[in-house]
Amino acid sequence: MSRPIVEVRGLVKTFTQSGPWPWSPQRHIPAVQGVDFTVAPGEVVALVGQSGSGKTTVSRIVLGLEEPSAGEVWLAGERWDGLSERVRREKRLRYQYIPQDAMGALDPQQTALEHVSETLRVLRGLTRAEAGEKGLDMLAKLGLAARRDALPREMSGGEQRRVTLARVLALEPQLIVADEPTSGLDPERRESVLEALIGNLPEGSACILVTHDMTEARGWCDRVLAMLAGRVIEEINLKEAEPVHPYARVLFDPWSGTLPTQPLALTGCPFRPDCPRAVGANQARCEGEIPTLSTLGVPEHRVACHDLIVNPVLELP
Ligand code: SF4
Repeated sequence: MSRPIVEVRGLVKTFTQSGPWPWSPQRHIPAVQGVDFTVAPGEVVALVGQSGSGKTTVSRIVLGLEEPSAGEVWLAGERWDGLSERVRREKRLRYQYIPQDAMGALDPQQTALEHVSETLRVLRGLTRAEAGEKGLDMLAKLGLAARRDALPREMSGGEQRRVTLARVLALEPQLIVADEPTSGLDPERRESVLEALIGNLPEGSACILVTHDMTEARGWCDRVLAMLAGRVIEEINLKEAEPVHPYARVLFDPWSGTLPTQPLALTGCPFRPDCPRAVGANQARCEGEIPTLSTLGVPEHRVACHDLIVNPVLELP
């Protein structure tokens, strides 16, 4: 098996919030609590979960946009966390980020082609002619050749997103982390943006897609990591199995139950207050022990639930 492009081990991130006065006590907010995963070359992995689940923080730590409080990040076999920005700068071209706010990432005075060609000139050192030719090629692949001279304000939301994608894809990175790249778009434009991104990934590169849209995760990703309260509660290849964790099931099939209606539990399993399985003999364990990921059936299916490990086929009440 080839070496993973991303390897995350025991990742922890705690944010510290200061009070309004110098003497106010600080609050420590655990955003990520012990996350492990890998992403192989050619793989597209989704990080899914509701707001506050920790998915964006994990993705930012992977790219070195945040430092972890503990744990390790390895990119293409090299330790990445803790490196100085000077060392990272030389390697950053290989690892690219696509932010949510496409319009904010674009220069209002530059055309679609200028966005791509200038990126290639500045970051790849291409000549003006080379950058123009390569930039136009990339715009054509993303269906934007006819819009080469359009300014951001003249583009639709979907076109703006595709220009940000063209700029990143033209650099041929090994890893792309896309944070909700389709937010705010209608379903048709969402599809075209994902098709442009995933359909044009450089060969052998990997992609982490941060999304709260389960249709996108199901349709475009090889593997899904469902997060709750800073932890991965289920890892699954949706082409081989269906989610079984009670929280992940509701994420993927809103008709199967309700998302947490009560505050998440601070001890034991965070989903406990809303979990239909946390009853009877399970109750004490769900209250007292945080479940960790265990393999369920196939190696790519792991779930963090005390009950499912014992009763994998028991249907929910
Ligand atoms: S560990 Fe307990 S509370 Fe958590 S999902 Fe499983 S059964 Fe429910």
